[in-house]
Amino acid sequence: MSKEKCDVLVVGAGTAGTYLSWLLAKKGYSVITIEKDEREKVGKRLDVIHFETDRIEEAGIPPFKVGEPDCIEIRDTSIVGTPDFTTEIKIRAFQTIVRLTPFLNRMYKVLEADGVKLEFSCLFKKLLFQEGRIIGILAEKDGIEKEFHARIIIDASGKTAVLRTALPEDYGVETFKLGPNDVMYVLLQYIKWTDLKTSHPATDTGYNWWLLWFGPSYHKDDAILGVGSPGSYENAKLAREDFLRRANLPSYEIIKEEQGMTPYRRPPYSLVGDGFLCIGDAAAITYPFSGHGVTATWMLCMIAAEVIGRELKNEGFITKERLWEINSRYFKDQGAKFASLYMQLSGILNFKEKEWNYFLKKGLIYQTGEDEEIPEPNKEYEEEMSFGELIKFFGKLLWGIIKRKLSVKHISRLISANGLAGKIKKHYEKYPTSTYEFDQWVEKSEELWKKKKGATKHLANVSIEYH
Ligand SMILES: Cc1cc2nc3c(=O)[nH]c(=O)nc-3n(C[C@H](O)[C@H](O)[C@H](O)COP(=O)(O)OP(=O)(O)OC[C@H]3O[C@@H](n4cnc5c(N)ncnc54)[C@H](O)[C@@H]3O)c2cc1C
Repeated sequence: MSKEKCDVLVVGAGTAGTYLSWLLAKKGYSVITIEKDEREKVGKRLDVIHFETDRIEEAGIPPFKVGEPDCIEIRDTSIVGTPDFTTEIKIRAFQTIVRLTPFLNRMYKVLEADGVKLEFSCLFKKLLFQEGRIIGILAEKDGIEKEFHARIIIDASGKTAVLRTALPEDYGVETFKLGPNDVMYVLLQYIKWTDLKTSHPATDTGYNWWLLWFGPSYHKDDAILGVGSPGSYENAKLAREDFLRRANLPSYEIIKEEQGMTPYRRPPYSLVGDGFLCIGDAAAITYPFSGHGVTATWMLCMIAAEVIGRELKNEGFITKERLWEINSRYFKDQGAKFASLYMQLSGILNFKEKEWNYFLKKGLIYQTGEDEEIPEPNKEYEEEMSFGELIKFFGKLLWGIIKRKLSVKHISRLISANGLAGKIKKHYEKYPTSTYEFDQWVEKSEELWKKKKGATKHLANVSIEYH
């Protein structure tokens, strides 16, 4: 059997694997990235996708140009509609509207120019171990098996996490598979408005109550009608039906449909093992409020490239301990913010339709403003309020209760979820800097996550459980 050696072996040439492979090759290391799909077909499951513009810049991705095959538009605002359809709120949102497969193919050329060896139509089959430690993988290309040996192996295989879930239970990285309550089921319909005389929701309008949105598509008279729900595609379909029954939309034609799942759960407590790292959907790293995963993982990749880049300079096996800094730097920062937001969501998702109306109209969820003065959302994806803002916020909550627009039960759930969110954030910020206190830290994390309460959203035709 043929064998190939390199410094870094990455499984999966989606947005996560592509980016980290590139960063490591630019540091001068030999990187091989294997991908089961054909080169022109990677990412075909999705077409139009949104990237957070500030994060693209931070990650140092070669700039997008509107009109090129991989970039439809660069936007700076979105609209949020209230469930009673009486109010639309303009919010600041810097998004680059990307076509996924052309983007990946543009990046593949950049990667190859910087020395990454890309192996397409090459399927990961199993991990190879020596004395209980990962030393390589077995893969298959064109019916022929081949071994790849590397000093570090990276799982960037997406939701199936083919490497992470194949690790021995005691390897130090959780091996969970994503179940129906760990993902958002997303249905997308690419639509064309056919009655142009009647007004329709503007491009990039979201209706949080149904977790439904009209995203930008190829042309201005097109849109992508998207809807997401935990539990099943059926839940998402029913939520869309409930919305359509109420929304009174002008006529449209469905051009094509897509569907998929995006992780909606906490990542494994450790992302690293001996000679191993997981990133992207394989590590369940997505923005808790949007389910977007692409640029969220790039922040982890930047840390990983620094640590791996340093460790590869030194001799010897790259142990879990030598990679630990990836865990501690990631979880103390973005990991802590995401854990907190994820906890907060369980408080927010309890609200009923009329409460959402109140929250949105009173500016309790999004800060709003006039045209050029629309405030920019906190780039770090966490809400920090001044004392004055906090008083105003609680004043509006109190007023909502007095006016019977908000229920005491739901507000107390929100306050308790916020309290827990604060605690989990502080706890993640204290992520151990070495493996030494890890077990203790996990124990305390488990205690806190167990306190997270589920929420149920009651639509007219379905009740959706959020775990
Ligand atoms: C409908 C929908 C809409 C979304 N919209 C957005 C959005 O607008 N913005 C955003 O940021 N995120 C969005 N997401 C989430 C986003 O798509 C993912 O978070 C992101 O693509 C994850 O990238 P990844 O590289 O980790 O995984 P993937 O993109 O899944 O890449 C993994 C790669 O590994 C390969 N692979 C798998 N198994 C093997 C194997 N055995 N051997 C070799 N190769 C293998 C796969 O073929 C694949 O190419 C959306 C998700 C869905 C479902």
